[in-house]
Amino acid sequence: MSVGIRRIFSGIQPSGAAHLGNYLGALRQWAKLQSSSDSVLYSIVDLHSLTSLQAPLLLRENILAMVTCLLACGVDPKKSIVFQQSQVSGHAELAWLLGCRTPMGWLNRMTQWKAKAMSDNTNVVGLGLFAYPVLQAADILIYKASHVPVGEDQLQHLELARDIARSFNSAYNTQVFTEPQPLLGEVQRVMSLRNPLQKMSKSDNQDMTRINLTDSSDDIRNKIRKAVTDCTGSVTFDPHERPGVSNLVSIFAAVSDSTPDKICRMFEGKQTVHLKDELAELLISELAPIREEINRLQTDRGYVMDILRDGSERAREIAEPNLAEIKVLMGIKF
Ligand code: ATP
Ligand code: MN
Repeated sequence: MSVGIRRIFSGIQPSGAAHLGNYLGALRQWAKLQSSSDSVLYSIVDLHSLTSLQAPLLLRENILAMVTCLLACGVDPKKSIVFQQSQVSGHAELAWLLGCRTPMGWLNRMTQWKAKAMSDNTNVVGLGLFAYPVLQAADILIYKASHVPVGEDQLQHLELARDIARSFNSAYNTQVFTEPQPLLGEVQRVMSLRNPLQKMSKSDNQDMTRINLTDSSDDIRNKIRKAVTDCTGSVTFDPHERPGVSNLVSIFAAVSDSTPDKICRMFEGKQTVHLKDELAELLISELAPIREEINRLQTDRGYVMDILRDGSERAREIAEPNLAEIKVLMGIKF
């Protein structure tokens, strides 16, 4: 790994099951990044998931299920800190302090809250949804993280975190905040299987849009077979003109450590249906060991809770002195 990675922070929302987009855009990379830095923090960002209404009992299960997913993908709780965002109260506190230095116009430019507000008319479009990039900036800046692994959908928020850090540093004439850099995953944007113009997402209420890491082999076959493509039979890579097929090609390429061009050559003279059949089998063999590990860990609730408790304590040890330093700088701590 490149030099200069001092501390890595990344977050995942417990708003549903982890899916193939999370896996290829983030989780697969997370496990590899553990050895590149002494300090790696992975946060189950429960406060962010509350921007849409969550059933309390289900949320509790989803928090534990997300830890299970991380572990099954190879995140090692000895090498990294796996913790629950709301258990480190400094995140929410710093979000307020940074919010006071964040122009509303900056938040108004963010595209994600608009997309979510439009796609989900059952929910209140709350202040939380609008302000959530500030909390996300606080998540990162409270640890003075140097790098953040993200999918393409989060680049805009990371850029905002950099702007907020810069604006705070200049207002208080300090260098307290590091401007965090993105680390992009293998596929930066895995698209929905039902609408290849939208990203694959946990919060989409249609399960057919995504492959969950917990899906059975039959689910995977069924979802890939029904993935929306187009009327052309051949396999080509052209995300603009043929987003559906191209999405399947890039998933195929990422999972087999290849490139879209090579995959198209492999399927020369064949049809989309062949690509779908082979992709389904490839995904089944890639995800089966993860699914088995998830099932195994699910029987050990105590172990998963211990990891979360221990991780939250270790995260607090880093966050608290940093928050104190910031409060001194701002004149609210003696
Ligand atoms: P939600 O719909 O609740 O926002 P999500 O599916 O977008 O959930 P997050 O928890 O917001 O998942 O994101 C976790 C990580 O996965 C982030 O780094 C994000 O950039 C990445 N990610 C999410 N969706 C995709 C995708 N379709 N392709 C690539 N990366 C993705
Ligand atoms: Mn998201």
